[in-house]
Amino acid sequence: MEIFDTVDAVRTAVLRDRWRDSSDCESSPIRNAKRTHASSVGLVPTMGALHAGHLSLVQRSVDRCDRTYVTIFLNPTQFAIGEDLDAYPKPLDADLQMLRDAGVDGVFTPPISVMYPPGEIGPCHITPPAVADALEGQSRPTHFAGVCTVVAKLFHILPATDAFFGKKDYQQWRVIETMVRQLNFDIRVHGCPLVRDDDGVALSSRNAYLSDEERVRARSLSRSLAQVQQAVSDGDDDVDRLTESLRRGLSGLDAVHYAVIRNRHTLRPTDTVDRSVALVAATVGDTRLIDNVELGSDVGT
Ligand code: AMP
Repeated sequence: MEIFDTVDAVRTAVLRDRWRDSSDCESSPIRNAKRTHASSVGLVPTMGALHAGHLSLVQRSVDRCDRTYVTIFLNPTQFAIGEDLDAYPKPLDADLQMLRDAGVDGVFTPPISVMYPPGEIGPCHITPPAVADALEGQSRPTHFAGVCTVVAKLFHILPATDAFFGKKDYQQWRVIETMVRQLNFDIRVHGCPLVRDDDGVALSSRNAYLSDEERVRARSLSRSLAQVQQAVSDGDDDVDRLTESLRRGLSGLDAVHYAVIRNRHTLRPTDTVDRSVALVAATVGDTRLIDNVELGSDVGT
């Protein structure tokens, strides 16, 4: 596994992997001719403090792509002042070992000065698409501009064919997918299933902040979402009633930022449970947690 911390080195490696020399290819119709052929390169952007949720994205990339690159960059521009940027866990050596074991080919761990060189005045940034406006965009108004800008930079620095995002951050996946479509990025975006711990809690690097007592209370998010999912399986299709029961099911939390059922693509309010997603954000102690489940037909699209 190669480890990179400069733009030029990682870009050169990704381009090398995409256009591999195949002059030794026996089946080549042009014998002895020096040819190159395109290979798929998967990219998994992360902020580190890796867990099985991240590794499920890596596994998908390793399964589907010829080469896999992971980025570990704790992006300051997606955190607002007063959020947990300084407290965020940074177990870099353990992260690298997990990625080695998972069969990753390259890791990009740039220092902040490489991603945001000092001295730039009024740096360019991406204005996120409308799907970023509600939910997380309301709770964290500057968050998606930071996410879109850093992901756009990573897509340029590592010109991969495929990028893997988790549905744990459901709105983020939709925002990135929309940005890629609207700005004609040459990359396929994959949304990968949310991975949970044994007690149902969605895996998150932020779970490390929870005390034992808070961890028990945190189960309320996934428990309430699972109850709504069960009600839909049992035939309930009344979005208002389901939303009400989602909210009633949330107990023992310190603040609920939102608990809604939305259209799965636009994340706008919907009156049909078909192709919808239930999304929750809440705090337990000082920790802000998000979780969701897709509802209705065509789960996964
Ligand atoms: P982060 O390091 O939190 O920025 O996450 C990096 C990527 O891993 C994002 O695409 C997340 O959605 C994804 N991810 C984080 N937790 C999970 C999880 N529990 N299940 C699936 N994907 C996840």
